[in-house]
Amino acid sequence: MIEDCNLDGGNAGYLPTDKATLKAKDLENVYVIGDNTDLPTSKAGSVAHFASEILCENLLREIEGLEPRAVFDGHSNCFIESGFEKGILIDFNYDVEPLPGRFPLPGVGPFALLQETRMNHWGKLMFKWIYWNILLKGEEMPLEPQMSMFGKWAD
Ligand SMILES: Cc1cc2nc3c(=O)[nH]c(=O)nc-3n(C[C@H](O)[C@H](O)[C@H](O)COP(=O)(O)OP(=O)(O)OC[C@H]3O[C@@H](n4cnc5c(N)ncnc54)[C@H](O)[C@@H]3O)c2cc1C
Repeated sequence: MIEDCNLDGGNAGYLPTDKATLKAKDLENVYVIGDNTDLPTSKAGSVAHFASEILCENLLREIEGLEPRAVFDGHSNCFIESGFEKGILIDFNYDVEPLPGRFPLPGVGPFALLQETRMNHWGKLMFKWIYWNILLKGEEMPLEPQMSMFGKWAD
């Protein structure tokens, strides 16, 4: 708990965090990640994953006496099982709501954003393997932490 560490979590118990740098507000040498933050985004593993790349870079910059880079955009993505072996994939950030398009390769996919497809369901199943064999081992994923607008369109 934030309060157990003698930190001020405000009314809701989340640590006030700069949404772009991930530096704790009003604290020196403290950066925050994951569900503990008060960032205006989902409490989701994907947010923590994308934020971790920014946070690591900014921690190293802090150690070197440099200003943190204000580059976290609140990127989140999530498979949603919709039943009957179909699923939906959403990809969004602080400013952009989930849009239709293809993911991760613009125009190609193989996943369809905001659409209910069998491939999205298979993507969710494949993610289980990715989680245990790549993410938990700290291996690199070929995805940028920031949300890309390539291959997406507004209705
Ligand atoms: C049922 C459920 C389903 C979810 N499904 C999804 C999903 O499909 N996709 C998705 O992206 N996100 C999902 N989430 C959200 C995701 O799990 C969280 O957003 C993510 O785990 C947050 O990571 P974290 O590191 O901030 O916190 P956590 O993963 O909660 O890690 C915090 C760790 O700190 C430890 N800890 C707590 N207190 C102390 C202490 N005093 N000293 C030492 N250690 C301590 C805890 O034991 C824990 O291991 C789901 C969450 C739940 C509950």
